[in-house]
Parts: sequence; C-alpha cells; structure tokens
Amino acid sequence: MRVFVVNQDKKPLNTCHPAKARKLLSLGRAAVWRHYPFTIILKGKERPIVTTEHRIKIDPGSKTTGLAILNGNRVVFAANLIHHGDTIRKTISERRAVRRNRRHRQTRYRKCRFNRSQPKGWLAPSLMSRVNNILSWVKRLVAICPIRAISQELVRFDTQKLQNPEISGVEYQQGELWGYEVKEYLLEKWGRQCVYCGATDTQLEVEHIHPRSKGGSNRLSNLTIACRDCNLNKSNSKIKNFLSGKPDLLQRILKIAKVPLKDAAAVNATRWELYRQLQSLELPVEVGTGGRTKYNRTRLGLPKTHYWDAASVGESTPKNLRAAKVKPLTIKAMGRGNRQICTTNKHGFPIRHRTRCKTFYGFRTGDMVRAILPQGKFAGTHIGRLTVRKSGVFEMNTPKGKITPVRHKYCQLIQRNDGYMYSFVVDVQ
Ligand SMILES: [Zn+2]
Repeated sequence: MRVFVVNQDKKPLNTCHPAKARKLLSLGRAAVWRHYPFTIILKGKERPIVTTEHRIKIDPGSKTTGLAILNGNRVVFAANLIHHGDTIRKTISERRAVRRNRRHRQTRYRKCRFNRSQPKGWLAPSLMSRVNNILSWVKRLVAICPIRAISQELVRFDTQKLQNPEISGVEYQQGELWGYEVKEYLLEKWGRQCVYCGATDTQLEVEHIHPRSKGGSNRLSNLTIACRDCNLNKSNSKIKNFLSGKPDLLQRILKIAKVPLKDAAAVNATRWELYRQLQSLELPVEVGTGGRTKYNRTRLGLPKTHYWDAASVGESTPKNLRAAKVKPLTIKAMGRGNRQICTTNKHGFPIRHRTRCKTFYGFRTGDMVRAILPQGKFAGTHIGRLTVRKSGVFEMNTPKGKITPVRHKYCQLIQRNDGYMYSFVVDVQ
C-alpha cells in the first residue's frame, strides 16, 4: 500500500513507497499528517515536485462501496466503505414510534399539517447517507492525493446500446463486453434468479428459451436466466415440453420474454444523486456500466471484492493493472452520536441520563486508539475505536470484537473521531 504525501502548503503530491515514508519520518523531514488513510506532511521547502494525474474509481453499493485510486495502471489506494443506512432507518423509526406515543397521551388536539410533501428528488435519509459518505470520502481523498478524474459505475447495463434490443436483435457472445452487458440486462429483467426454480445464490447462466439447435434466435426476447442445474436439465428440449407440468410458469415466462425492460428499471436513484453531486466537484466524471465492470474485472483476473470492482469501473480501465501488495482499508460509517439526554430501557422507562461532559481523560467516544494492556484476559496491544466512560474504564471496538475493561492510562490516541471506524480486516461482502 502506498503512502499519501502533502507538501508544506498542504497541497497533495504523488504517493510514495512506505519505506521512503519511514525514511523521511526518521530523518525528521516529514511528520504524520493523518493515520487513516496514512498521510505524511513534508517539512521545509521541497523542490517543486511534478504530480501525475490520479483517477478515483467508485463502485457504489447499497451496503458497501468500493473505492480505488489509480495512478496510470498502478493501484495506489483501495478501500471498502461500509454504509450505515440500516442504523439510520432503525433510529428514525424508533424516534417516530416515541413521537407517536407521546402525542397519543394527554396532549391538546393538533390540526393536520397540509404542506408536508417532500421536494422533488428527495431521498430517504438512509439512502442520502450513502451519497454523503461517498462524497465526503472523495473530497477527503482529493485533499491528500492529486486526483484529476472520477470514474463511477452508474447503471447496470448500457441502455443506449441496448435500445429496442428485443426488436432489433443482438448477437450474444459470452466473454465479450457485449455479452456482459446483455447478461446484466437479463439479470435485471428476470429479477436475478433462476426462472425455472427460483434459485438466487448460485451461478446464473444465460439460457435460450427456444433452443438454438431447434432454430431459436440470439435475440434478447429469446434469452433468459437459469441456474446451472436447470440449464443442463432443460438442455435442448422445447420449453413447452420442459415445463409441461407447470403451465402457469410457462405462461409467465413467455409473457415476460416479450416485454422489453424499461430504462428506468436499471436506474438507481441513489447512484443518480451521487452522479449529480460528483459533478459539482469540478472534476471530469466518467460513468461505466455494471456489465463493463464485470467484463474488466474478469479480463484482469481479479477476485470479486468491492474495491476490485471499483478498480474495474469504466472505459478508462488500463489493459493491465499493477495490483500487487494492495491492502484495502475498511472504512465503516459510524455516525457522530446522538443528542439523546435520557436513555430508556425497552419499555421506554428512563434508566440513565447523559453526562454534560463528552471528554474524559482526554478521550472521546469514536477516537481511534492503541491500547497496550499489561494484564488480564485481553493482555497485549490492540487498535480500535473507543467508547468512553466517566469512570475512566473504557470499552474498545476492534475487528476481533469488543474489549473491556480498557483503562484510560493504557490508551494512546491515534486519530480523533471523524465519523468512521477503520481497520485493515476484510470480511465484508
Ligand atoms: Zn434453476
């Protein structure tokens, strides 16, 4: 993994090798600027250094977003950004329940409010948080890396190229870019499951409804999605024979096959909003399709992870990628706490009140710390996110799990709370 470098004026420079960063730090010619992602700041006036154009690539997902920065064909940074939309949705509905309860008790009559519609283009807070997470990280990375371009996966498949595909007909060929676009289209059209048995978590293949050997065409209206077993079982038999015992399913398949998928079906509101927001950064934004991402990743021989998907987004993806020694950073959105003064038990009965103070012994909840525990069950060194207590006996959230008790005197601050938790453990999908 490369180290980010900023000069004395806090302008981003090219990344450097960790060994060079260590040397600069030990010689006193640089200081640590941030730990996550690791950034150093140069001291003194350095000669003007030429920076090269870097490109940030984004694969937005509902739970996890992949991020990758490329300098030419070298991957200099990769990260999995984990969103917390579920938590937001949960807290908002809890708040709503409490509000409803409160207004049901002894309160005066409240007249219905009339002007309560959402403005156009409004996204639910849980969805907007994803956009904001990604935008926030693009801005943070632009500040420490000479990023000059953005690539974003916007749609599942190319709607322009697939215009009226049911009518005009396409030559479907597996393994080519066109084939990947077609497959993404079919996955979307048939609901990402085997049409014959409904299997979802298996390898899905493109299947000819009317078999090729019996004169079936390669048109999209003759293609569907099936699991390997069903594909082999059906083989080259006619669909009427294969589904002779299930007339309802046969009717449904033949009906769906004829109807072209509307463009809107493949467009995701969150991704469009992200695209609009990224354009406001005044960097050129290249958009790619899910089909092309998959094609590039397969061509480059990379495993299926969010950050490798991100590195494969768009037409600008280089022919070969220098992907060795990439250690992805896991960035988990944690929010910045709440303003709740009174904590209740599950029945809504108040059990404790928040202290007026947030800082205890120099630490706040959310700080990333290194704790060196001399004894006890968790003796050893741990790096994690802190939850502070007034008593000075803290808790720590690490990739291996919760560690408690952690006394404040054993904690060393690494980075202040910035709304995210960091680790180098990859266990997200
Ligand atoms: Zn099946």
